[in-house]
Amino acid sequence: MFECEWLIMATKKVKSAGRFKERYGQKTRAIVSRIEKTARTTHECPSCMKKTLKRQAAGIWVCGKCGVKLAGGAYSPSTASGKILGQLRGGKFREVKTPVAEQTEPEETQEEKEVVV
Ligand SMILES: [Zn+2]
Repeated sequence: MFECEWLIMATKKVKSAGRFKERYGQKTRAIVSRIEKTARTTHECPSCMKKTLKRQAAGIWVCGKCGVKLAGGAYSPSTASGKILGQLRGGKFREVKTPVAEQTEPEETQEEKEVVV
């Protein structure tokens, strides 16, 4: 009975991190509970746009509707650094790389001609 009351007190502010009882400090337990909340809730699937994306393991997210399996953040499907990487892949990075590739291609063809002659 006493233990049950204690458990309610322990989980009141820090929710899922209440399992740590009084250990690690209140601030740390609050951070853990916030992260676990985003990890355990369902998120919007980028494939079928339904809120059925669930965390299977650290970094692995599976959609319950269309069954798509994605690599994402450990505790949330998309992270801030992941978004930057996506931007680099889609935009700026490609713009920088294509002129370099165009410059190297003519040089290679010239060298090939020289070898033939
Ligand atoms: Zn889906």
